[in-house]
Amino acid sequence: MRDLSVRDESSYVINWRCRVCDNRQFAQTYWAREQLFGFDEVFEYKLCSSCGCLQIVVIPDDLDRYYGSDYYSMRSQPKPGGLKEVFIRARNRYLSGQFDVLGALFARLRPFRALASLRPLRLSRGVRILDVGCGRGELLQALQSAGFTRLSGVDPFVADDLDLGGGVKIRRAQLSDVISLIVNGDREPFDVVMFHHSLEHIDDAAGALRAAYTALRPDGDCIVRIPTVSSYAWRHYGINWCGFSPPCHFMLHSRDSIVLLAERCGFKVTNITDDADTFQFWGSEQCQRRIPLMRQGILTPMPGQFTASELRGFERRAAELNRQHDGDQIIVYLKRPA
Ligand SMILES: [Zn+2]
Repeated sequence: MRDLSVRDESSYVINWRCRVCDNRQFAQTYWAREQLFGFDEVFEYKLCSSCGCLQIVVIPDDLDRYYGSDYYSMRSQPKPGGLKEVFIRARNRYLSGQFDVLGALFARLRPFRALASLRPLRLSRGVRILDVGCGRGELLQALQSAGFTRLSGVDPFVADDLDLGGGVKIRRAQLSDVISLIVNGDREPFDVVMFHHSLEHIDDAAGALRAAYTALRPDGDCIVRIPTVSSYAWRHYGINWCGFSPPCHFMLHSRDSIVLLAERCGFKVTNITDDADTFQFWGSEQCQRRIPLMRQGILTPMPGQFTASELRGFERRAAELNRQHDGDQIIVYLKRPA
């Protein structure tokens, strides 16, 4: 096992280059542990001294074993029934931007942050939406239940192509495969392309954003939800911050570095909002205690680790950090210029 301590190597010259800004100076090197499953492995990351992006040095060859069938977005979602389905559908309508009083109430009880990130766009239900890194399509199903019909997903880690019914399909593919269809004129460009905690998993993030730009119609919207090191949780927990997630997260952006990357890919950044939740606290506390984050295929606090009052405290603190723009997860709204 290698030394996990943080070393200042700013004067140490190696052939390193920031994947975002091409800077050759890094501020620090970190050796960080795998956190989801508790594998006893560490990975080297460097923090760019210019744009502040924290990035993995070498991407492992055998990435599949850090995902696998237990990975959270890969699980099949059980369909609700009865009254619960009525509430869920109302919530989904409200969060996707429609007027729904019942949905507004239920959204407070059962939030769905990925869906809520679409609300400010006030989308009509006829828009064409592509979800990149969609897993088994939980968000696409929610949009479908809210009345959206022109939905697609791509994910290279799903076992097979999936048909969610009603013409909604998930392809086991890379974004570039979808782009070739658009470039060849075999399908229309999209109104919205979304990356919900998927961009940080892509080795060529700039290539993915450029592909998203190509996949969009002029004036189309791109939503990027990512963890960020410009946050209290990173400053407080460091390598035990649960958003780090080595080696699956290749890039942990600063708020500056994601803007720089998006602008280099042709986008205009229209807004950045915080949507961090309690995970930053219970997850990071568990990482400090060497307790794996994933339990029976889901991210959930290990029973007995936190009191109900502590968990309520995490909720209050997460809301406060979001208001102060210091949360560890952000939504970046991008527009392809008209
Ligand atoms: Zn940089």
